[in-house]
Amino acid sequence: MISVVVPIYNEEELIARFHEAVASAMDTARTQWEVVYVNDGSTDSSLELLRGLQHLDPHVVVVELSRNWGHMGAISAGLKTAHGAAVILMDGDFQDPPDVLPELINAWRDGAEVVVAVRRSRQERRKILAKLFPLFYRVMGTLSDYPIPLNAGIFSLMSRKTVDSINEMEEKNRYLPGLRAWVGYRNKVIFYDRQDRLAGDGKLSFVSRIKYAMDAITSFSYKPLRLSFALFAFATCMAAALALCMLLSKNSVGAAGFGVAATVFFVGGLLLLCLGVLGEYLGRVYDEVRSRPLSIISTVHRSQAMNVPQFGMIAAQAGTHQSQEATDAA
Ligand code: UDP
Ligand code: MG
Repeated sequence: MISVVVPIYNEEELIARFHEAVASAMDTARTQWEVVYVNDGSTDSSLELLRGLQHLDPHVVVVELSRNWGHMGAISAGLKTAHGAAVILMDGDFQDPPDVLPELINAWRDGAEVVVAVRRSRQERRKILAKLFPLFYRVMGTLSDYPIPLNAGIFSLMSRKTVDSINEMEEKNRYLPGLRAWVGYRNKVIFYDRQDRLAGDGKLSFVSRIKYAMDAITSFSYKPLRLSFALFAFATCMAAALALCMLLSKNSVGAAGFGVAATVFFVGGLLLLCLGVLGEYLGRVYDEVRSRPLSIISTVHRSQAMNVPQFGMIAAQAGTHQSQEATDAA
């Protein structure tokens, strides 16, 4: 079975049309399927419409959240509810076009564990966002400590193993496109043209977008924490150059000026060094708190004759997460 997870917040204008499009795309896939709609505390009639759909179509699963938790919160709930051997994530406003679904499924059937839909082009009626998205991806590409496909949002298919690994991670400020790549299973990229939303306005506030961008950078890059080291190196070079100017200066007033400036840079540099050291500790504390596993086992291949029952325990003690398939194999 394949699950499609769709977060829904005040999408009453689109739900019926969207479900029709998803159902016809999934019917071509020749597989069992379900659509998990996560109602993220909608204040319009979205929930009633979803419940109505459920009466008409048994493929529909409705998850009702207690309040509005935001895009990532809704997606996390959907990932935990979906039962499929593969799970597709997509938005419910036609920006992720349902007619791309068969292509995602075919790539998975060809052996990819994660199929990422990358935006070849983007239509965005909000001009500021049209400018900010490319800027964000450029910054992310430069800063990220781990290669993450750029120009990709949540629209993707993930195998059961990948979903299980992501569900195990309890970190709160999630950047799913990063985690999906970080898990590490075989990725395939397909390209699509991202349309503008079919009706209504975007539901994510500017502040929540900024927070999401900060989550993305801070959870996949140490570089901002290490900025102090670069600044320390700069301040030390400046202090050395100014001290040299002071020694070479023939004019005593000038020498005093150079001396003061050199001292300021030297002391500033020492403070930056201390900040950099603190940053390194903070980064490690952050790693521990997020408690991402140290490694993820894809499959354990072992001959039938070998039986090592303690393996799971040893792996767990070493902070290693095994996928369900690995556990079964063990
Ligand atoms: N959404 C949600 N909770 C929210 C905001 C949005 O579940 O608090 C849903 C929304 O219904 C849509 C998807 O998340 O299906 C993407 O939202 P939106 O289109 O507003 O984001 P954008 O495409 O503008 O980034
Ligand atoms: Mg949208």
